[in-house]
Amino acid sequence: MLAAAEDVEREADRLTELDAAIGDADHGGNMRRGFEAVRTALRTDADGAGPGTPGAVLMLAGRTLVSTVGGASGPLYGTLLRRAGKALGDAETVDVAGLAAALRTGVDAVAQLGGAAVGDKTMLDALIPAVDALPRGFAAATAAAEEGAKATVPLQARKGRASYLGERSIGHQDPGATSSALLVGALARGGGA
Ligand code: ADP
Ligand code: MG
Repeated sequence: MLAAAEDVEREADRLTELDAAIGDADHGGNMRRGFEAVRTALRTDADGAGPGTPGAVLMLAGRTLVSTVGGASGPLYGTLLRRAGKALGDAETVDVAGLAAALRTGVDAVAQLGGAAVGDKTMLDALIPAVDALPRGFAAATAAAEEGAKATVPLQARKGRASYLGERSIGHQDPGATSSALLVGALARGGGA
């Protein structure tokens, strides 16, 4: 989560530029505000101790995103992290297979909440290939997420604000798929890849 906050901070302007092309130019600001709040929440958890397990970290981060990000991405990323955290339960340590299964649960919840699928030009175009690839390792997941984000360029958006543009959404990389690729890359760094 701290690696993610760092990457979001660094790339916020690029995320906003992408959102300016096919949305409302707030994605970088939304992500920056959300992950800055996550950073603070992880430092100052209720009793000052911080969450004790990987699952608790993800659930706290997810709740924080839901409550601090107004855009579509807040509830979607919040759901991803909360559901993945819940799936991890109170395990003290997590292996790659367990993490992949938990993230699969989270990504399924995002698809259900937003009604989107692969090819709709959303964050799922990066997240689903990443989760599919994760059992092969963090590097494979990162490459799949980046490829998935790039593959949104020729797509026409069918969900979210960009879908209002119809064919004019073609030719631009989806901001949410781009931030998802960043988050997967941060996860890989945290996971030691
Ligand atoms: P908003 O669209 O409310 O301004 P953001 O700009 O923060 O919110 O996030 C936009 C991103 O959210 C899009 O680029 C897309 O990836 C993602 N998104 C929007 N709607 C959906 C949806 N229904 N399912 C999955 N992802 C979505
Ligand atoms: Mg936006």
